[in-house]
Amino acid sequence: MATTQSARLTQIGWDEDLHIDTREETPSEPVGEQVRVEIEACAVCHRDCIDRAGRFKFIQIPVTPGHEAVGRITAIGPDVTDWSVGDRVGTMHRDFCGQCEACTRGNPSACVGAAAVLGLLIDGGYTTHLLAPQRCFFRVPDGIPATEAATLHCTFGTAYRGLTRFAQVEPGQHVLVTGANGGVGGAAVEVARRLGARVTAVVRDARHQAYVSALGANTTIVDPGDRFHKQLGTDLADAVLECVGQPSFNASLRSLRPGGRMIVIGNVIEEKAAVNLGYVVTRGLQIIGSSGATRADMKDLLELHQQQPFSIQIHAEMPLAEADRAQRLVHAGGLHGRIVLVPPHG
Ligand SMILES: [Zn+2]
Ligand SMILES: [Zn+2]
Repeated sequence: MATTQSARLTQIGWDEDLHIDTREETPSEPVGEQVRVEIEACAVCHRDCIDRAGRFKFIQIPVTPGHEAVGRITAIGPDVTDWSVGDRVGTMHRDFCGQCEACTRGNPSACVGAAAVLGLLIDGGYTTHLLAPQRCFFRVPDGIPATEAATLHCTFGTAYRGLTRFAQVEPGQHVLVTGANGGVGGAAVEVARRLGARVTAVVRDARHQAYVSALGANTTIVDPGDRFHKQLGTDLADAVLECVGQPSFNASLRSLRPGGRMIVIGNVIEEKAAVNLGYVVTRGLQIIGSSGATRADMKDLLELHQQQPFSIQIHAEMPLAEADRAQRLVHAGGLHGRIVLVPPHG
């Protein structure tokens, strides 16, 4: 017998609080390719709020939210090949099938066969014990504190994959990051600097300026009106990491030098961006979407972290039982760093 606790989303929206389900019971045994992970910490992501608002119509409720968890494997199903009991792991956004075209080309974060999307299609990390398929996880070294490791995939991993695999950033290049005060944006500032780039950070409010400067941004532009490209003059960017989405999309496009690359990371919202195709064609621009990171990306990222440690920003640690309050704080916006939930045994 053990204390098990999960926060459950039982109704779409903000009218009803997350339900905290606490029991004395033996945690469920994994079957097939499932592993069971005793969760040490799970970060609260802005996407959790998007999930809660019902923006993904395929969400299966009731569901346990959370896709930024870290913990140790305590049991494995009979068909598990990748892990052993005792391994320390972190969650990715979802599993991958290993067989579709994206997977066989080494791009499992674009897998079309993934069925286990944490917090949407299967129960996620706001829990003491997580059961999920083995391909939902990447390896986490023992030395990293759980609260920091929890945030690594969705923030630093996403930024790292976008900047290396798709933007192919090289030392000396100019990288512009929008939404630089956010989780991925702040991580992107740190990663781009470690890749040797010069970083221009864009924020919408002057109260974020000192924060992104401290993360290492060479220049910070405060622009509430999404006309920041006007402030670049002739110093256009080789690559833009677009972390905001529709509101800043066109200013980001106009921040690129001819042949430049825009990596679109966020946000998945219903509003559509209008694009002047002639501008894209004549300047030879590339617009590339990217989501999450693969196990291979995470291995490289963790090596970079070991050589030149990132300053991983944690706003607060809160008990899992306060998951609803944590989500409401994230939903209200403006935090610097993640809120991380710690389950009772953690
Ligand atoms: Zn996330
Ligand atoms: Zn696949």
